[in-house]
Amino acid sequence: MIHFISKRLKHSLVLLFMASVVCFTLVVSAPGNVAVLIAELRGAAATPGYVEKVAEEIGLNKPLLMRYVDWLGDAVRGDFGISYRTGQDVSADLANRMLVTGTLIAGSAVIATLISLALGFLGAFWPYRLPDRVSRGLALLGASTPTFFVGALMIYAFSVTFQLLPSFGFNGPESWGFPPPGGGPRAPFRALELVKLVGISDPVARLRQYPHELSGGLRQRIVIAIALAGEPKLLIADEPTTALDVTVQAQILRLLKDVQRRLNMAMVLITHDMGVVAGAADNIVVMYAARAAECGPVDKVLVSPRHPYTRGLINAIPRREDPIGSEFRGLPGIPPTLGAPIKGCALAPRCELAVPACGNSRPPLVRSDDSAVLVACPVVNQGKAAA
Ligand code: SF4
Repeated sequence: MIHFISKRLKHSLVLLFMASVVCFTLVVSAPGNVAVLIAELRGAAATPGYVEKVAEEIGLNKPLLMRYVDWLGDAVRGDFGISYRTGQDVSADLANRMLVTGTLIAGSAVIATLISLALGFLGAFWPYRLPDRVSRGLALLGASTPTFFVGALMIYAFSVTFQLLPSFGFNGPESWGFPPPGGGPRAPFRALELVKLVGISDPVARLRQYPHELSGGLRQRIVIAIALAGEPKLLIADEPTTALDVTVQAQILRLLKDVQRRLNMAMVLITHDMGVVAGAADNIVVMYAARAAECGPVDKVLVSPRHPYTRGLINAIPRREDPIGSEFRGLPGIPPTLGAPIKGCALAPRCELAVPACGNSRPPLVRSDDSAVLVACPVVNQGKAAA
């Protein structure tokens, strides 16, 4: 018995030694100069002097045998060092993935055991009949097929063909900037849910792509998905349709409204586009020089603008009946610089209704003749020049 155990131990040690030599060979034969990679990771210029210093620091100048001994010592202690690619602690990275790996192993073991037991019972009850033959065939197939190929086939079937599971690995969402609070083993699934929520077709493939490989509309949808990852009660979308063509603009606006309704979330749109406001907002606050000029329901403010600035904005929108070559109807003058405080009404130098009193103090937002609409203009509110 002792002879048997010592023989097994010897074989195991030889096997471990061979595995360690193979791993070490893979490590030292990795492409690229490790010292240069580390220098770049530290943000330093990879000058020959600095690279030599780094090489010395991490023991690259030692004989290969000494490096193998050092490497083996570190591996036995569980110190795998820092990733040359990400600069992160490799042990921490491995520990992070351990939960997912363990869950998958345990889940597979349970499923395999349940299936094997069921097939075993069937085979025992009906020996040499179809269930027995099928179970023996499956057992032979399992024993003779390398696990790696079975795993690859499973990944292909469940992740690529049926898209039931993510296939981008558990770091995929982070590469897109999905917030770490959504991290952990559920992160890829959550990312997939969100990407589906914002209506992206072929979401698994999209999550495996780099941002520059996607169109502007898709990138915009991904950004919205990232914003939704934190499950906000309020979404602030600053110019969400800028630089998109009209068709994509309409899609993004529809999407925002749809997501808002489904998640029961408030949304603030910041935009210069009156068409966007008219199509997507319930209430509007018209801002000039970082101050609210007029606010109220969109259908009232845009249909019957009261503040001179709102009137100017609406008047500036081109109309179908405008003759070709007609001049742009903008407000005269230029917007004020905001570097210094503005004492009176900020619009005074450009306002056709301005009176001398407009320069005295900042006009407050007060209810107009329609109580749902507030206007920051005493001239409009009182129907006469401010005192
Ligand atoms: S307060 Fe005076 S300057 Fe300002 S918008 Fe009204 S009328 Fe024009």
